[in-house]
Amino acid sequence: MQDIAAATEANPDRTAVGFRGEEWSYEELWELTSRFAAGLAEHGVEAGDRVAVYLPNLPQFVTAFHGTLHAGGIVVPMNPQYKSREISHLLADSEARVVVALSDLVPFVDAVREETSVEHVVSVGGEAEGATPFEEFLAEEGADVVERDDDDVAVQPYTSGTTGRPKGVLLSHHNLAWDARATAKLLPDGVQPDDKFLGVLPLFHIYGMTVTMLSTLFEGGSYYPLPAWDAEATLSRIEAERLTVMHGVPAMFNDLVNFEDADDYDLSSLRFVNSGGSSLPIEVMNRFETVFGVELYEGYGLTETSPVTHANRPGERRPGSIGKPLDGLDARIVDGAFEDVPPVERGPVDEEAVDLNEITGELVVSGPNVMRGYYGLPEADEEAFTEDGGERWFHTGDIGYRDEDDYYYVVDRAKHMIVTGGYNVYPREVEELLFEHPQVADAAVVGIPDDRRGETVKAYVVPVPDSDVTPEEIRQYCLDTLAEYKHPREVEFIDELPRTTTGKVQKFELRDRSGTAPSDDDETG
Ligand code: ATP
Repeated sequence: MQDIAAATEANPDRTAVGFRGEEWSYEELWELTSRFAAGLAEHGVEAGDRVAVYLPNLPQFVTAFHGTLHAGGIVVPMNPQYKSREISHLLADSEARVVVALSDLVPFVDAVREETSVEHVVSVGGEAEGATPFEEFLAEEGADVVERDDDDVAVQPYTSGTTGRPKGVLLSHHNLAWDARATAKLLPDGVQPDDKFLGVLPLFHIYGMTVTMLSTLFEGGSYYPLPAWDAEATLSRIEAERLTVMHGVPAMFNDLVNFEDADDYDLSSLRFVNSGGSSLPIEVMNRFETVFGVELYEGYGLTETSPVTHANRPGERRPGSIGKPLDGLDARIVDGAFEDVPPVERGPVDEEAVDLNEITGELVVSGPNVMRGYYGLPEADEEAFTEDGGERWFHTGDIGYRDEDDYYYVVDRAKHMIVTGGYNVYPREVEELLFEHPQVADAAVVGIPDDRRGETVKAYVVPVPDSDVTPEEIRQYCLDTLAEYKHPREVEFIDELPRTTTGKVQKFELRDRSGTAPSDDDETG
């Protein structure tokens, strides 16, 4: 990966990273990353070794990430919300030799260190027993870049564990660089050196890593990390720094539109706002655009595809769609026999009026951003890929359809589909309807066991503050609009939906709340 070398050469004095009033120019960032790389080399880290980064969004994440690549190493990002139990598998499986951890998180590493290959722990934000403070770990003199091939692995994020243990995803330098550059091109005229990106998506997740940090820094723009999600901090940061780009997840945009006094903030500096990670309810998109006067685009991707595969772009968008495939990426909708499902004329379709089984299939993709494979798991690779027509197609596990203009629509994840009395119900359709109800602030729909129907539809709803709506009224509202088998027979009010750090509703938790047997579902990430 060309990394940040070219941007540093072109714009040494520009701000690369800004955090809490402090700024680091490209030249300063380059110096820090090369000194971090030299620190790794002094501690015996060689090309191909793994370095785990266990930090929230802080400038040190940027340094440790680029410094590891500079040293020829592989970054293993770990969710800073994880504790010992969750990180032990990641550390043991990846055989990481160094961990860069927030000082408060060092005890979680210590507790499992014996079971891993960890030799050195570097602490950020304070001292911790047995760890070297970050500033001391930096060598006096920077190191030269250790060259790697484009196909060498650069980053090994972990899935959150759909089928048992989390799987290490092998993303090469080329995978990441290609995706970062392709997503930079989604902006009108591409990312420019005077673009300022909000960094609120977590960097341990591929979405924040590629789409915010890498696509900014490769193009000489500035990156402003925020360590945790906070609607007020986000709005005031955008206004104060005149930030130009925000990438977020639907839950963030929903929080922003529901934030009291949201319209007091001036977000006119934003020139591109994009949502991904889960489906963006059309209602949230419309409200965001009304409140803030800025268009909100939707894109789609997965960890295994570095991540973006589809996006809507300025001048070319269709609300309700995930957009068209990125230029240079191939996508198909296939049936169980891997035959193409024909496109509809124009989407989105009225899901009530069509037989979804006829127009949908699994979304599969092939392109330069698709992972090399899972780490040490040939059987998982076998399941994830199909060779067809000379291409290697990755199975996304998402059900969708496409239209004749090549816009794609995700109906839902295959494993979220509810089968009730022989009918298929996609929760997303019911969720979209719930979001249209003026007294609903947030909602999620799951299938719960039912003796007669196998499963039945249940909605968890967060009502807007001081609302007087009742669960029965919500149930009736859905029944009035949807086919009977789709309406939630149970509606439960809840204060807050359980979400992952990347804003996905933890549906397995909702199902468990309803007494379902523990599932092997994912979304703990
Ligand atoms: P795991 O990889 O372990 O299954 P995960 O859900 O955290 O866990 P990610 O790679 O973060 O994995 O998420 C990818 C999934 O997010 C996609 O397969 C899709 O279901 C969902 N997704 C992303 N963007 C969108 C979107 N715009 N609309 C609908 N779904 C989306």
